[in-house]
Amino acid sequence: MNHASVPTASDPIRTIDVIRKKRDGFELSPAEIDHVISKYTSDDIPDYQVSALLMAGFLRGFTRAETVALTNSMLHSGDVLDLSGLSAKKVDKHSTGGVGDKTSFIVAPIAAAAGLVVPMISGRGLGHTGGTLDKLQAIPGLRVNLSLAEFQRVLEKCGCAIIGQTQQLAPADRKIYAMRDVTATVESPALICASIMSKKLAEGIDALVLDVKTGSGAFMKKEEDAIALAELMVDTGEGVGKKTVALITDMDQPLGHAVGNAVEIEEVSSVLQGRGPHDLLELCLELAAQMLYLGDHAASISEGKSIAKEMIGSGKALERFRAMVQAQGGNAAIIEHPEKLPKARHRAVISSSANGFVQAMQCERIGSACVVLGGGRERKEDSVDHSVGIIVHKKVGDRVATGEPLCDILYNSEERAEGARRMIERSYQISDVPPRSQRPLVRRIISKSDARPN
Ligand code: URA
Repeated sequence: MNHASVPTASDPIRTIDVIRKKRDGFELSPAEIDHVISKYTSDDIPDYQVSALLMAGFLRGFTRAETVALTNSMLHSGDVLDLSGLSAKKVDKHSTGGVGDKTSFIVAPIAAAAGLVVPMISGRGLGHTGGTLDKLQAIPGLRVNLSLAEFQRVLEKCGCAIIGQTQQLAPADRKIYAMRDVTATVESPALICASIMSKKLAEGIDALVLDVKTGSGAFMKKEEDAIALAELMVDTGEGVGKKTVALITDMDQPLGHAVGNAVEIEEVSSVLQGRGPHDLLELCLELAAQMLYLGDHAASISEGKSIAKEMIGSGKALERFRAMVQAQGGNAAIIEHPEKLPKARHRAVISSSANGFVQAMQCERIGSACVVLGGGRERKEDSVDHSVGIIVHKKVGDRVATGEPLCDILYNSEERAEGARRMIERSYQISDVPPRSQRPLVRRIISKSDARPN
């Protein structure tokens, strides 16, 4: 490699040299990584230099040592919460991102109702995937920018709270996350690991359950890539003394039926009232059971599932959700009156042009169609339309007749609806025969301990 002037260790670190080094495929030192993270967090490096570095890193890849350094620098860009004043075990769950993935709003209240504390720091929409914070803000009045003191008060009162990265908690991820969203640099294992683990370790938790998605709607399309990412994150969590388990779960089709911000909140209310779609409920019970097991509230995963079912059946999880929404300033009447959620002006049906069975769905296209409708961002400054979305009627394995509805789209702009319609139509693969087999929702569990009683 022909470097005109290679900086030596004693030279001051300059951002442009760090970008060049990564561009040329060299490993960055922890000091160089920390320089970029701390200077970007304090607004001393412009967006364009960080976006260049992100793209260089995306294309060249990051080593294991760089990933550890990145996670550490991002974690220490802000405070680490001290929740030792709360006696219950603190356990969180985080997903690597999917389409129709709304499990956080269900598992956090379940775990809280069963006695855990869930201090959840989440993100906005990323790429084609929906964001926990965007969905939550579909609830009129709800605030995700709580101060640390407010966050702790909600946790004390409700056992769960969901906020965004703040100036104090994971501020580096707050900025880098938004930049990755609009620079096509999301699907990097190192960047995903550092983003997720820096936020989660800042929460002061005892244990963490990771939902690592794989399939056409995930960032990790191939199962082996999802496993590698899961192992990286489990090692990172266990390396700093947090019990960490990762579930590799299916994202070859949307989870549940609703894709969008307000419509997903409506579906969450249904699940918490015992009426939700089967796949969504099944995954929530599995994730909640893992949380209860790691938090020593269940002796086995099957006991954890029974407790989780009871929290839904008894209405206790719903009450926790209601309490959390109210404590964060939201209008909890949306639970019984979903018509109080933002509503799109128009609804159109997308019908099947063939008889047969849904063989497969190109799930990323469904997520991108929702972004096109206005449910996500294409630029940092875009605002999100909480009212738009997609209701998926036909999923993999379902029989369809010509003219039967595949999906409904909820929209406010004809032009956007037309783009979304084309993407959704192309996402369905319909054939004469049913799919040979359907893969399980939970494909694999990655954990450091071999002894996990079922
Ligand atoms: N969730 C995050 O918080 N960060 C990522 O990079 C992906 C999913």
